[in-house]
Amino acid sequence: MDGTLIGNKHIVAISVNCIEGGRDCQSSKNLVPVGLFEFPKESCELYRKILPKPFLDSLSSVKYVRLKKKDIPVKLKLGGDFMNAVYVFGLAGVQSNFPCIFCTQHKSKLQEPDTTSYFDVQKEARTLEEQKLCLKKKDKNCKGYKCEPLFGDLFEFSDYIMDTLHMKLRVYDIFMTDILHYASRREKYGKEHDLEMEKKIDILNEHSKRLIGKRVFFAYDTKEQIIKLHGRFSGHLQDLLFQNFPYEKLLDGNAITDAKKLVYSFREILDLLKIDPLKRIKTLKAACVDFLQTFNAACLRNNVTPYLHIVGNHLFEFDEREDLGAFNMQGVEKGNDLLSRLYFSSTNVAKKPLYTMMQKLYRMLEMDLSPEERGEMLKFMNTQVYDIEDDDFVLLAEENVQTNDKLPVVENDYEVITSGSNDSSSDDEVIENESDEDAISSWFNLSNRKVLTANRFSSFKKNKKS
Ligand SMILES: [Zn+2]
Repeated sequence: MDGTLIGNKHIVAISVNCIEGGRDCQSSKNLVPVGLFEFPKESCELYRKILPKPFLDSLSSVKYVRLKKKDIPVKLKLGGDFMNAVYVFGLAGVQSNFPCIFCTQHKSKLQEPDTTSYFDVQKEARTLEEQKLCLKKKDKNCKGYKCEPLFGDLFEFSDYIMDTLHMKLRVYDIFMTDILHYASRREKYGKEHDLEMEKKIDILNEHSKRLIGKRVFFAYDTKEQIIKLHGRFSGHLQDLLFQNFPYEKLLDGNAITDAKKLVYSFREILDLLKIDPLKRIKTLKAACVDFLQTFNAACLRNNVTPYLHIVGNHLFEFDEREDLGAFNMQGVEKGNDLLSRLYFSSTNVAKKPLYTMMQKLYRMLEMDLSPEERGEMLKFMNTQVYDIEDDDFVLLAEENVQTNDKLPVVENDYEVITSGSNDSSSDDEVIENESDEDAISSWFNLSNRKVLTANRFSSFKKNKKS
């Protein structure tokens, strides 16, 4: 489950795969789309308003999959990024004193490695049971629970697997912000400082242009008095950008070695994740603990965000219990790029963009099928479960478009997503802006929400009965 920005529209795509099939099942070709939803913006409230109940119920009703005339019980797990978990589980997120999505560690202790667990209740793991109790008490900030989970009791907190792609992107974002923060320190006055900043910006722009082209650029933000990175880029390009990074020209003293150590330590984790656990020279746990300690000791800003806490506390736990590769969102991200291409190339964009996108996704799935499988699919289509749950498509009237403009629009200078892109905003920037609530409710009164789902799962229910 992943949200993506297409133009200035938030699209949440839900797809399924079978993780027992290994990492290949995660490729975009093998992901089966289940639903596409358009959101004015992502929030706990909107997730609950927009995802239709029959759709959620149909997901919860999947208990068996029929394979070669055998009914095989299935257990559903959910993969996604940090913010998706916040919305799905009904958490308060980064604003809370308990910002982690897996455990109830207090925000003042996020820097401590290997202290809490994502599944062990003895080590502060979150549970639906605890959530129920906390919500009953109506204590507003009780352990960061905000409202009931979207999927009811379908997914326990330990059934949520954080995807490593978003983790990688966000952690690199943190490095970049911290390095730029340090590089922007005012050590000289007036013109001299301005010249110093210009020099550093030139170095950064030249470095990024050489390694990744013109996808991103650096500029001085006079308001915040800091050098900022603009543009969006993928995890692969972030890897590249940190290669031969001009630390020496931007930083000084211990900051140079500290920044280098930090990037090296994180790279070590990423490399270990690619290796079979039995063949690793260093355990992932040791690398994760080292990483968080290196971060704490660095003389850059040492504000530990939930993502860093998750690396230092839960990442190695996931790795021990799950095949993280099967939950890597690379395939989902590719799917998102595909969606954005379909969206922008669609001839009836204004009419039924999500419907057209869904149709095309299914047609593409079909291309890889054998003639027999296609026959099966046709039979399946005739069961009419591939239908529109809520075909309340309403054309965007002009006044609605204007209302849309008032909504928090994330900078869309780079609206056409090309390859494996992701916005490079840091965790801090995704804090919900409560003052936008008015804009949201007015949007809702216009009832121009668009929802499309392929209610595929009904087929399993029907099969079950027959
Ligand atoms: Zn935690």
